[in-house]
Amino acid sequence: MKSVPFGQRSGFRVPRANLGGMRLPPDTDEAVALIRHAIDAGLRYIDTSRGYGDSEIKIGKALKNGYREKVILSTKWSPWITRIEASDDTSADCVRKRIEESMNRLDVDYLDYYQVWNIDSREHYDQAVAKGGMVDGIQKAISDKLVGHTGFTTHDTVENLLTYVEEADWCEIILFTYNLLNPLYDKAIAAAHAKGIGTIIMNPLAGGLLGHDSPLLKTLAERVGARSIPELAIRFLISNPAVTTLITGIAKPSDVDDTVAAVNRGPFAPAEMELLHQALAEMLVANKAFCTGCRYCLPCCQGIEIPAIMNQIAQYRFWGFQKPAQTGYHDLKGPKADACIQCGQCEAKCTQHLAVMDELKYAVQNLATGEFGVR
Ligand code: SF4
Ligand code: SF4
Repeated sequence: MKSVPFGQRSGFRVPRANLGGMRLPPDTDEAVALIRHAIDAGLRYIDTSRGYGDSEIKIGKALKNGYREKVILSTKWSPWITRIEASDDTSADCVRKRIEESMNRLDVDYLDYYQVWNIDSREHYDQAVAKGGMVDGIQKAISDKLVGHTGFTTHDTVENLLTYVEEADWCEIILFTYNLLNPLYDKAIAAAHAKGIGTIIMNPLAGGLLGHDSPLLKTLAERVGARSIPELAIRFLISNPAVTTLITGIAKPSDVDDTVAAVNRGPFAPAEMELLHQALAEMLVANKAFCTGCRYCLPCCQGIEIPAIMNQIAQYRFWGFQKPAQTGYHDLKGPKADACIQCGQCEAKCTQHLAVMDELKYAVQNLATGEFGVR
């Protein structure tokens, strides 16, 4: 894989696809072999976390025998995601303790990156950058040569991110969620890239959804010359010049091989991207007119989790992900669409003026059928 600058602040170069350490195989030997296979195939940046079970330990074992020198190693933590001890907080001292703990778990004497994990509100951001806070702690570790660089990961609003990007001189990379089905962070990614921050994309296959069959996306893939929906999804991302790289979760060798093959097929041509954007915009208009998940329709007198059912209907109807939608519906907890007594209270409250009762009948007819267990 060709490499590109990892933003303008760190001096690193990275390939367009790298390794996410969240879903490694449970067996340690298998995980070690798979990580090494990924590194041998050209993946270079490794993203893990103190909160990903034993991911750091498996990666540490994989990085023996000369593999450490081949990679850019990054881990992350924050107290609002994972409290290792009840006293954990956002102080510089606490983050130093967690940095050293992660280094022990990874069995390394240096981390290329240590990130603040999941800033998802202004309050989190302010806590992280406060005097004597997490960022100060990471900067101290940088000056002590335990860590090389820093950044943060996020699921915050685009509006907030646009302000952080302006303020965060300390930040060299940001990890965003972004994919074919969810281009929400488009603007924030472009703003970060323009500031010289390396932009990393997690969840390129929308939590595995883009590994499933969808007649709509299959047709789109064929029209732009992609050989599969996952290839369509990956090439869509690397066609965005503001996206530096993506991280892919690996559970088996073909996850690595397919990703590398997709990246090596290269970005789409401008005309192909225009076609994709047009088709996706049409889908998003249809989606926008549907359920926003605002929850104003709740509570339902029968305890039906209406927005969750609407979400499965959207996957089924708009994107054509029939089996995942049926499985998702089947797995929902609590009363389902067939418990609706047609009282009409939810429709009166729906902000999108949706025919909720008819939609629930649609769910009974289309989602409460099919084979389950497809993920
Ligand atoms: S119409 Fe059905 S879904 Fe809506 S509030 Fe009444 S029982 Fe619940
Ligand atoms: S009020 Fe309407 S749009 Fe909002 S969650 Fe309920 S069904 Fe969806």
